Amino acid sequence: MRAVVFERFGGPEVLEVREVPDPRPGADEVLVEVKACGINHLDLWVRAGLRGLDLEMPHILGNDVVGVALEVGAAVRHVKAGDRVLVCPTLSCGACPQCHAGDDNLCRQYDVLGRRRNGGYAERVAVPGVNCLPYPGELAWSDAAAVPLVFLTAWHMLVGRAALRPGEDCLVIGGGSGVGSAAVQIARLLGARVIATAGSAAKLERLRALGAHEVVNHATEDVGARVRELTAKQGVEVVFEHVGGAVFEQAVGALARGGRLVTCGATAGGSVGLDLNMLFGRHLTLLGSWMGRRAELVEVLRFIGDGRLKPVVDSVVPLAEARRAHERIEAREHFGKVVLVP
Ligand code: ZN
Repeated sequence: MRAVVFERFGGPEVLEVREVPDPRPGADEVLVEVKACGINHLDLWVRAGLRGLDLEMPHILGNDVVGVALEVGAAVRHVKAGDRVLVCPTLSCGACPQCHAGDDNLCRQYDVLGRRRNGGYAERVAVPGVNCLPYPGELAWSDAAAVPLVFLTAWHMLVGRAALRPGEDCLVIGGGSGVGSAAVQIARLLGARVIATAGSAAKLERLRALGAHEVVNHATEDVGARVRELTAKQGVEVVFEHVGGAVFEQAVGALARGGRLVTCGATAGGSVGLDLNMLFGRHLTLLGSWMGRRAELVEVLRFIGDGRLKPVVDSVVPLAEARRAHERIEAREHFGKVVLVP
């Protein structure tokens, strides 16, 4: 089959199209014909070389796979050949106390398809049968492939971790990214007042269309000052953060007394300054979050299926042009998800 692989860590230039052997599904696995595969920032980090990540080369990226079941292992009962499936990107052991409790995201063996295990930048991929979820509604392949990782991440952050409530003010940092555009919609769905940031007028316009009540241009405006203005100097109850560095520090400053900040990323830097006097004096809560529970993806898919949450697709790119797609994301030119199709 044709796949986009890399042999060594590096920039987008290490991605190359190649013929590779077809994956052989085990008894508890399903061979999926990939119809579309969403690109995530995680792919860029894995390609560049994540600390401590030892990969068998060549490696195939790709977390968010949708397609048709081609071959179904003998032990898989809920899928048959020809079924349309959306593949849950998360992997866990299924046997530890955390997995039994439904907290599969806390499993010691928790991983994501395309990180250690070969993913969907290919014509076919073998996945554990339990990861094959029913296809949501009548969505186009490229729309469905824009859903799993970012909606799961944003849902777990806002619902599972920050417990955002109706009427609260929620500041979504970087609303134009994949997770940001999911967070704006989820916060709106939950009944919060949504304040979203982005770095261009065009992106702010799109954030309003997605449901943001207020928008702030972080390139030209002081986000903290705007938030104080919009909240009668109180600050917001919840901040949705995924950038890190100086942005994280500003975001902490935008919190109201008793506010919660939830973060899932540190693209701009993992080490930050934190004034402990502010943390305890203002009764703040800082929450870490990575991916989410499988049950939460099933929950999100109900809202995707009936159209109350909508995948945001920036562009659909042929698999062979994965390199160009990575360059577009690195240049931050995109709004929403870039999706590969074979
Ligand atoms: Zn486990």
